[in-house]
Amino acid sequence: MGGLATVTLGAAYADRVEPVAAQVHDIFDRLERELSTYRSDSTVSLLAQKAGVAPIAVSDDAYRVLSLAHHFGELSEGAFDVTVAPLVKLWGFGRTPAPAGLPSEETIREQLRLVDYRRLVLGDRTAFLPLKGMAVDLGGIAKGYAVDRAFDFCRNAGIGDFLIDLSGNIRVSGRPQWGEDWQIGVRDPFDRSRILGKVALPSGMALATSGSYERFGEIAGQRYSHIINPRTGCPVTGTAGVTILCGDAATADGLSTSFFVVGLKGAGRLLQKAPPADVLIVPDKYPIEIWLTPGFAKAFIAIPELAKAVRILTPTSP
Ligand code: AMP
Ligand code: MG
Repeated sequence: MGGLATVTLGAAYADRVEPVAAQVHDIFDRLERELSTYRSDSTVSLLAQKAGVAPIAVSDDAYRVLSLAHHFGELSEGAFDVTVAPLVKLWGFGRTPAPAGLPSEETIREQLRLVDYRRLVLGDRTAFLPLKGMAVDLGGIAKGYAVDRAFDFCRNAGIGDFLIDLSGNIRVSGRPQWGEDWQIGVRDPFDRSRILGKVALPSGMALATSGSYERFGEIAGQRYSHIINPRTGCPVTGTAGVTILCGDAATADGLSTSFFVVGLKGAGRLLQKAPPADVLIVPDKYPIEIWLTPGFAKAFIAIPELAKAVRILTPTSP
């Protein structure tokens, strides 16, 4: 899935680490083969090849991820847009290397005509993109979905205490040891060597982060996030990092990308519409501010240097 995956089991399951890790690996591998933009034989690649030609048959997993992606498009009023692929490519954040300079306004406008999640047609286990040149990019949601599948597998296999982490998409069960919740550090988006603070994750909960320093591209010496604002066709500016705490990893993943696009300004409106979820947003400004919903604040302990940077985020603030 293009990233590091780790599975941590509670001490009581020490003898099961190897087979469980192998099976979780198989789950991620199978989903990657279907959902990756980088594989020419994936469902996602076939969907693009058949754009403007004919619908393709899709597996249950592909159908569910595409439906979820469409749902996050509606919820975020288009901030999350699964058809953003042509723009990701244009800005050089996909497989193709970064362009030497910035794309022209005209090319951005041209590619924007191919971006509209509402045009993705989902039928009875089929999917269709009506215009040649359209393509989907599941990079904003597939990892979370995959973590949920691995979570279900572990629970069904009778493992009570575990943590799954696929490139910052995390879900936990049980606890690392008696009396404790799983503790996850949220990285400082400006400084990879430190964390902003720690989150305590109760059993079953998920945490996803968007906009980590790993996912930035550089064009002409300027840093750009890998997340595109589908309204402008340009990389998002104004947001440095978003972390979502909620009940499943797919929702956490979809919401983290969505909140990254709408930023602190659009967060209140999205909070009103979003499913129950807690949000942490770090705007791209100095000095650092950490905006947290009240529920996030309860689970979060900032490092002492940043205690004064914490602000409370509600549907009507800031
Ligand atoms: P995440 O790290 O989950 O926020 O996902 C970032 C990835 O989502 C990018 O690398 C792209 O593959 C994809 N992406 C970029 N912009 C958008 C967008 N506006 N809506 C949905 N997916 C996007
Ligand atoms: Mg995401």
